[in-house]
Parts: sequence; structure tokens; C-alpha cells
Amino acid sequence: MKPSPTEFTDRRQALVSGLALRGIEDAAVRRAMLEVPRHRFLPEALSEFAYRDVPLPIDEGQTISQPYIVAWMTQAAALKSSSRVLEVGTGSGYAAAVASRVAGTVYSVERHRMLAESARARLAELGYSNVHVLRGDGTRGWPDHAPYDAILVAAGGPSVPEALLEQLAPGGTLVMPVGPADTQVLIRLRRAKDGTLEREEMGDVRFVPLVGEAGWKPRAGGLPGRGLPGLLRESVEPLDSIETGDLRQLVGRLARARVVLLGEATHGTSEFYRMRTRITRELVERHGFGIVAVEADWPDAARIDRYVRHLKPSSSPWKPFTRFPTWMWRNEEVRAFAEWLRRHNAEVHDPARRVSFSGLDLYSLFASADVVVRYLDTVDPEAARVARERYGNLTPWQSDPATYGRAVVSGRFQSCEPEVVKVLVDLLEQRLAYASRDGERFFDATQNARVVANAERYYRVMYQGNVASWNLRDQHMFDTLSTLLAFRGPSSKAVVWAHNSHLGDASATEMGTHGEHNVGQLCRRALGTEAYLVGLGTDHGTVVAATDWGGPMQVKQVRPADPRSIEAVCHQTGLPAFVLPLRDSRHEAVRDELAAPRLERAIGVIYRPETELLSHYFQASLANQFDAWVWFDETSALHPLGGGATEPGLPDTYPFGV
Ligand code: SAH
Repeated sequence: MKPSPTEFTDRRQALVSGLALRGIEDAAVRRAMLEVPRHRFLPEALSEFAYRDVPLPIDEGQTISQPYIVAWMTQAAALKSSSRVLEVGTGSGYAAAVASRVAGTVYSVERHRMLAESARARLAELGYSNVHVLRGDGTRGWPDHAPYDAILVAAGGPSVPEALLEQLAPGGTLVMPVGPADTQVLIRLRRAKDGTLEREEMGDVRFVPLVGEAGWKPRAGGLPGRGLPGLLRESVEPLDSIETGDLRQLVGRLARARVVLLGEATHGTSEFYRMRTRITRELVERHGFGIVAVEADWPDAARIDRYVRHLKPSSSPWKPFTRFPTWMWRNEEVRAFAEWLRRHNAEVHDPARRVSFSGLDLYSLFASADVVVRYLDTVDPEAARVARERYGNLTPWQSDPATYGRAVVSGRFQSCEPEVVKVLVDLLEQRLAYASRDGERFFDATQNARVVANAERYYRVMYQGNVASWNLRDQHMFDTLSTLLAFRGPSSKAVVWAHNSHLGDASATEMGTHGEHNVGQLCRRALGTEAYLVGLGTDHGTVVAATDWGGPMQVKQVRPADPRSIEAVCHQTGLPAFVLPLRDSRHEAVRDELAAPRLERAIGVIYRPETELLSHYFQASLANQFDAWVWFDETSALHPLGGGATEPGLPDTYPFGV
């Protein structure tokens, strides 16, 4: 379901208010930004994201510029209502449309025939009759209509083309990104009445390359310099097997960190769990890591902890990890890891030095979500449906437009709030009572009170389904991790397992522009280079996931990644698996290429391949998001354990079976 016209208008208004705060002071530019419907310049499937302040992919591997950059460049050009403007790089035609609202006439040149034609048709249809589009090499300008009062170049070139300088009128302004493929400086040149040029550097930007006679030379794939997949192939450390492959280089880098964060692009992929097991084993066995902390409910993870640390089995009657999404931690892969940890700990004689296993999430988050949905099912099915969509947002990027529409039906949902909170608090108090009976020292009385208060706040915030709920959860996970580290002393070191969207630095992704932060970002802020962020990704295969929150677990096909994504670049290397170091300076060229924002895929406990582009992709700068990236081209679904009967051959103390 597409957002309605009024929703588009509301979002555009919010975007423009943001621009005002960020220094777009020119009222005419702001009016133009308010007027031009950016969603009409995008492929329909992306219109949902039209008013986020990010560049987005259009055809021919090109991008529509970020709104802020369009506003900034237009403002920098100091246009008047009589100005004649030359634009190089029409792309979608969006920036030309914005300039046309401020200036007299806009002449825009685009080298791709298809883009030029569709932009021309679109601009005509929307009534921008003072914009003219030419297909051609814009590094030569458009001499027929010269001179221009302003020249705006929307692609990054090695230098300002001579022809453009010749076509700039006295008193005119040229704005252009200049520099190598990945980072350019935005340059403003002003020609004084006497013909002299004044040059000013406005800041770092990142544009697609200006390809042409006085730009970069055209090549297959369109990238200046070596093809990215080829460059990647030269820089990665190939991996032939998860269990026995040579990880010395990677582990050597991780060993120096205080906290190693191991991500995953899905919650249901066997390879991701096995790779994290392998890395964690190395860090525990050889480098003194003593804390394993995962994206799971505390009380449930505590059962595994008791098992692996040879503590007295719990006396609580409930079964861990038996509520949605059961498979995340109740699976063969985690069982194998837990068995190994238990064996490892058996050799560690000082109990205080045994490796612990803890859940970082808001106390009983998943169990609580399950209780809410079930309770609402009995009292108000419509509210339950809304709750399912809202809880879908617990895992990242369920931004299916249909969700918003339905979630608006929240009147009744809110009226259930007091009872729901009561059900939740009951559940939490019950669990906390068991925790204290089990002698969980971590949870003293004040911590207990905080757990209940935090949870309540969390569910209240979630009723509104906004940024605050995400931030609250990630802040809590970070705080729990910090408490664990402090509890184990100054030389303690931790390995964290959670989704890429929690562990990759949010400020390098679209999440950052929405004001969302996460565990990875908070760790970097607190620990600097002593936090090592590792992302794990895949192109295609199978995965365990559900279609709706609380719905049945399914094995689903993971579609081959979108051609514009970072996953597609990795796939094109032709390598089945590798480790890509991103922090090391020796790989500067790769780092530079991968600093550019690209689509990246995130699959949580819910996977909706039918609406994949909308629900599961976001913009990220991989090189800034992670310190290393681990790739598996083809992956397979993890192996969930059965429903809770004692697994044959396991002791009674076994956490999954009791
Ligand atoms: N302003 C555009 C963004 C364009 S991206 C928008 O708002 O949608 C840059 C565009 O410059 C791409 O479409 C690319 O094809 C084009 N381009 C690159 N080199 C060019 C050249 N030499 N002449 C004309 N267009 C060029």
C-alpha cells in the first residue's frame, strides 16, 4: 500500500523542517523543496522512502541526490528568479525541478539516453515547462544557451571542465563536486564581473562519477578505476571452511579488542551461528574472552548460563526459549556451542573464571511480546493485529508501507494499555521471583525494580511505534553489557552476538538519519578502537523466519540480493566465502569504495520476500558501519530443536530439554 498524498505532503514538510535546522536558510529554496514531489521522481517501489534524507537508487546504476545536498547546492548557487541555470547530470530530474522553482530557466544535460528521456517526460508531465533536457556529454556544457548565471554539476569529476568555465557568465556561480571516485569536495567558483574566479571549498560530499570527455573515462560497469568486485577479490581473505578455515588474521585483529561484536544479516542462518561459534571459541581459548552476551531474553539465556557454568539447575518451572521466536536460540547450532562451552568450563577450576552466557535484551522482551499478543487475541483481535505489526519492528526494517496503514487503527489498542501493562508486569514479577530463588546475584532488588519500570516504559513507547523504542532497547542492551563487563572486572572481555542492525554502527546507516542509535555505535563511542564490529552477510539460500509476528516458523528462500546492494558486489567476486578487513589501512582503496552508501539487506525473525526491497533493505556505508565483513555467498537455514521434550541422551539439567 502506497502512502496517501497527504502522508507524502506531511513527510515532505517534516523533511523540509529538518533542512531548515541544518542551515538551509534560503526561503525560496525551502519553498521549492516543499513544492517538488520527490516521490514522483523515484521508482514506485521506493516512493515510500522518498522523504528520507538519503540518496536512493534510480535506473542505470545512478542515484537521485540526497534532498539536503540538492537544497545545499541550490542555495550555494544563489539563484534569482531571472537566472539561467545549466545542470550537468539530470538523473531523475529532481534537482532540476527544484532549481526551476527558484530560477528562470534550467537547461539540464544527461549522458544516459534512457534517463534523459524519462526525466524529460516526467518533467513535462508534472508541468515543469521551464526545464529543458538534452542527452549528451555535460562536460562540454550546452553551448547553445550559454552563458549561464549558474552551473550545477551533480556528478563528481577529476576537475572542473574547461567548457563549463567558458559558459559561466560574469557574476555567475558554479557548484561542483571535485575529487576521486569516492569522496569529493564540493567546490564553489564565482566569476567576478571582471572575469576573475574565486574558489571556495564547501565540504566533503559523495556523488556518482562524472563520466565524459572532461570527466572520468567510461568503462564497463561505469566505475572509474578498477571494478569493485575485482578490487575486493584482491583484498579479502578467502575462507574454505567455517570449522577449519584459516582465521588467524581475523582473530589476531579481534584479540586486541575489549568487546568483539559479531553480527548477522538474518536471525535464521546456520552459517552465521557456526561462524560466530568458531570465532568465539578462538577468542575464549586463546585470548581470554570470558563473557558471551547475546540478543536474547535474560532469564532464558540464564538457563544456558547455568548449564555451561555447571551451576545448580534452575528451579523455575517454565521452559526457556519456547515462545516466539523459538528458533533464534533453541537450535542445533546454539546447542553445539553450549555443549562446547560446558566442556571448556569443566577444565576451568576457578568458578569465577568460567565463561558466562547472558541475554542482553530488555528483561523478558520476547516472552513479554508473546504474552501481549496472546492476551490481546482474547480481548481484541484487531488490537492484536496492530501489536503483531508493532512487534515486527523489534527486528529491523519491517517498513512495509501496509504496516503503517494498519497501525493507525490504534485507538482500541491504546484503550487496552492498562490491562496489557498489568499482564506484563505480572509476568515480569513472576520471572524475577524465580530468578531470586535461583540465586541470580545479578538481579538485586533495585535492578528488579528497574527491569519492571523499563519494560513498562518500553511497551508504552512501542504503542507509538517510534524511534524511541528502538533506542531504548539498544541503550538497554549496551547498559547490560557494560554492567556485565564491570561485574567481571577491568580485564574482562566480551563477545556479543546480535543482528547486524544492532552491532554495525548505526551512524553509518539510514538508521542514523532517523535518529536511531545502537549497540555498535554506543560501544564505539565508549571504547573507541577497543570495540571491534564484525558484520556477517549473504546473497542467497534458505533461512528460518516467520511471515508475521507470532506466526509459524518456516524455511524460506532468500532471494538473490538486489543488484544495487553491497551483497551484489560481494556476490560478483565469485568467491563462496571470505573475510574482508575494513579497518586496516592497507585496504584503503576498498575502504574508500565501500564508504559509498549502498543498499544492504536485513532479515529479522520476519522475512517477507514479496516486499523485500521495501521491508528489508536500507542504505548503509559498509566501510563505516563495520571493522570487518564476513561473507557467505550461499547460506542455509539453521536447525531448530523440537518442541521442548527432553532431547534424547541429554542430562536433565540441559536447558533446552527441561
Ligand atoms: N540531480 C540528479 C542526480 C543525478 S546523479 C537527481 O536529482 O536525480 C548524476 C547523474 O549524472 C547521473 O544520472 C549520471 O548518468 C549523470 N552523468 C554522469 N556523467 C555525466 C556527463 N558527463 N554528462 C551528463 N550527465 C552525466
